[in-house]
Amino acid sequence: MTETLHIVGGGMAGSEAAWVAARAGLDVVIHEMRPRVATFAHQTGKLAEMVCSNSFRSDDSEQNAVGLLHWEMRAAGSLTMEAADTHRLPAGGALAVDREAFSQFVNDRLRGLPNVTVVDEEIAALPGEGHWIFATGPLTSEALGRAIIAETGAERLAFFDAIAPIVYAESIDMSVAWAQSRYDKGETEDERRAYLNCPMDKAQYEAFIDALLAAEKTEFHDGETASYFDGCLPIEVMAERGRETLRHGPMKPVGLTNAHKPDEKAHAVVQLRRDNALGTLYNIVGFQTKMKYGAQAEVFRMIPGLESASFARLGGIHRNTFMNSPTLLDAEMRLKSKPNIRFAGQVTGVEGYVESAAMGLLAGRLAVAEITGRSLPPVPPTTAVGALVSHITGGAEAKTFQPMNVNFGLFPPVEGLKAGRRGRRDRYKAYTDRAKADWQGWLAAGV
Ligand SMILES: Cc1cc2nc3c(=O)[nH]c(=O)nc-3n(C[C@H](O)[C@H](O)[C@H](O)COP(=O)(O)OP(=O)(O)OC[C@H]3O[C@@H](n4cnc5c(N)ncnc54)[C@H](O)[C@@H]3O)c2cc1C
Repeated sequence: MTETLHIVGGGMAGSEAAWVAARAGLDVVIHEMRPRVATFAHQTGKLAEMVCSNSFRSDDSEQNAVGLLHWEMRAAGSLTMEAADTHRLPAGGALAVDREAFSQFVNDRLRGLPNVTVVDEEIAALPGEGHWIFATGPLTSEALGRAIIAETGAERLAFFDAIAPIVYAESIDMSVAWAQSRYDKGETEDERRAYLNCPMDKAQYEAFIDALLAAEKTEFHDGETASYFDGCLPIEVMAERGRETLRHGPMKPVGLTNAHKPDEKAHAVVQLRRDNALGTLYNIVGFQTKMKYGAQAEVFRMIPGLESASFARLGGIHRNTFMNSPTLLDAEMRLKSKPNIRFAGQVTGVEGYVESAAMGLLAGRLAVAEITGRSLPPVPPTTAVGALVSHITGGAEAKTFQPMNVNFGLFPPVEGLKAGRRGRRDRYKAYTDRAKADWQGWLAAGV
């Protein structure tokens, strides 16, 4: 008898997972709640609907991590990439698509397979039996959200992200910044030096506040409410409440001594905290923001020590349901407390169409291997897919976990290459060459 794989959510991740599993010969049932239950962002009842921009971002597989992810997915026979390539629109180096034709292509392909059934229903519970992949996305239905909370605890499922900008460690000027935790707190030397501190004098602070207030901000989408405000204010909103608010909040200068100028008392201090186990990424603590991306880069480079900062991702605040995957999922994306269930896509804490589809592809392959009794070696963390899954299932700091785009900061460094901006082209090429070879090796070893 053929085994059935149930997939909840026919979005980017669910559609890709369904394709992988159906092509491997499993019976697949996609449970998709639209159009019966609507979300504020989706407009149709179709599978793989792009809810906002029509871009899959850079298609450069040598110098860009998301371009590399495209490459890996194409090499694995991805339906998302085939649909995107078929309905590509001119967009310079980016992969932009005709969104309706893209979604129609995915629908036609999946609904045309004899072993795929699409059921128009909302799933509101986490089944204890059968093989399941939940890929319900940033707008997971309320009823299912309640079921996830009942299983995992309220503090493990967030309904808004509050993303502080993330900086590549190598781009921080350590002749200005220094490592120290406030009041030198911590049991170990590592903990006592867990934060990087960037000092500001009064003039720098005042100029920074002016820039924050003047910067262009993004608006919420229709239907997105701002109920997050109680717990997590954007820094520009804090600044609007009073010019000193930040100096008493995330930028307070207390408990810190400038290692470079021990006699100088900073007027304010911006702190960065390690964001991944590799130590390649740091987030700017408490700096969640709704400033436009261009404005963010400009304003944050005013911070002493961050003048040449490269950002792995910029800040944002969105309606976004995501789980604390580093504590809840095992390395094969299974819910630790109910291993018959995998999660995939944006609900696992990756962000973006491509990243979500990639996690669907991986969850599909892992499910096929499990159901057919084959063993699949772990995905090398040197690949884009592997770097992402390693991040969400363990590499990221669980306490401060926020959604993540794919970026080179998630990859284990290639040793012996020049650091800094000058060496960047060679470094990225080395990352992508290594990733491509390792991904091909992994594909050859698996389903
Ligand atoms: C307003 C908004 C704008 C965005 N803009 C962009 C952008 O411009 N670029 C970008 O890359 N990413 C954007 N994103 C993120 C984007 O949603 C994801 O990148 C991508 O769609 C996630 O794929 P997914 O498969 O995880 O979720 P989705 O594509 O959202 O698919 C999840 C599916 O699950 C269904 N579902 C939910 N709950 C249930 C249930 N209980 N039972 C059955 N079905 C269910 C939903 O109807 C949906 O079809 C945006 C998100 C939002 C909310």
